[in-house]
Amino acid sequence: MEALQKLLTAQSLNKDEWISLIADRSHESEIREMACEKRDEVYGRVVYARGLIEFTSICRNDCYYCGLRKSNAAAERYRLSSDEILSTVSYGHSIGFRTFVLQGGEDPYFTAERLSEIVREIKYSYPDSAVTLSVGEMSDDDYAVLRAAGTDRYLLRHETADRYHYSILHPSSMSFDNRIRALKTLKRLGFQTGAGMMIGTPGSSYETLAEDMLFISSLKPAMVGVGPFIPHKDTPFGGKTQGSTELTLHMLSLLRLLDPHLLLPSTTALGTAEDNGHVKGFMHGANVIMPNLTPMDERRKYLLYDGKKITGEEAGENIEELRRELRKFGYHLSLERGDYR
Ligand code: SAM
Ligand code: SF4
Repeated sequence: MEALQKLLTAQSLNKDEWISLIADRSHESEIREMACEKRDEVYGRVVYARGLIEFTSICRNDCYYCGLRKSNAAAERYRLSSDEILSTVSYGHSIGFRTFVLQGGEDPYFTAERLSEIVREIKYSYPDSAVTLSVGEMSDDDYAVLRAAGTDRYLLRHETADRYHYSILHPSSMSFDNRIRALKTLKRLGFQTGAGMMIGTPGSSYETLAEDMLFISSLKPAMVGVGPFIPHKDTPFGGKTQGSTELTLHMLSLLRLLDPHLLLPSTTALGTAEDNGHVKGFMHGANVIMPNLTPMDERRKYLLYDGKKITGEEAGENIEELRRELRKFGYHLSLERGDYR
């Protein structure tokens, strides 16, 4: 397959070539095996764990797919205090985590200044640890403030690189251009930047996924978060079909071949949608997992989609169990910072 040969020799692919690689699954198992080989060459058979802290479920946005959208009156809202965030980090650090991902809705309370104070305290108390933020779109100046405070990484999925598809997923108050501007700024400021997309959102197609791959090729992020879309009953997409886990796994392998150096999580959505989904993610080239450290009362309320898994391998407190399970499949779980190589 010509497009596959081009991908393997690090040549740029055009949109049609991406569509053929995504749609034609006759080479799927070969692609999967090569993806694992490429990952092993760069990182070894190592899975990096990041401690996830979902610190606010309050959001000013209204993304049609997300259970935290502001119009969802049934969502239970909470906001962890700085002390609660810091004591969660302290617990995570005590059980070995050296990367903390602070994620939340776009909560106006958490200004860049307030977040910076929290980041500074974490970096001061735990200089051996990396801090990742994932709190949506902010101004260039705000991102600069967060970077100056010592934030190492920032996750901001682009959601879709197709402008029209973006408008199907979001109300008109949200702008595709602003999302892309934000990602470019994050990269320019020196964050290890994460982009990404859901698989199988309403209006998605092989064409939109090909656009995603072209966008990722040009942005060159350090991380790409990919998981299936899972409907949430209290959103406008509540009755829509869940995204395919097979296609999600295939996209993970293609992303690994596109950039063997990527930090590629096996996401909670994949682990929720598919039995043993997290292990299947690693067997398709992923190399990151984000166990949840959020205090249990709040963890239950951070419901992006129906059935979101918050126990088992997704739970930070079960890290030793996860370690044992991954070992059975030949993977070593690392809690080190695991920076982009
Ligand atoms: N508010 C920030 C943002 O939007 O970038 C960070 C938190 S947001 C909940 C994190 C990610 O969850 C989004 O980028 C989106 O891709 C994913 N997500 C939201 N709703 C989802 C759903 N129904 N199914 C799967 N993933 C979903
Ligand atoms: Fe808010 Fe993020 Fe959910 Fe959109 S995806 S509603 S920005 S939490």
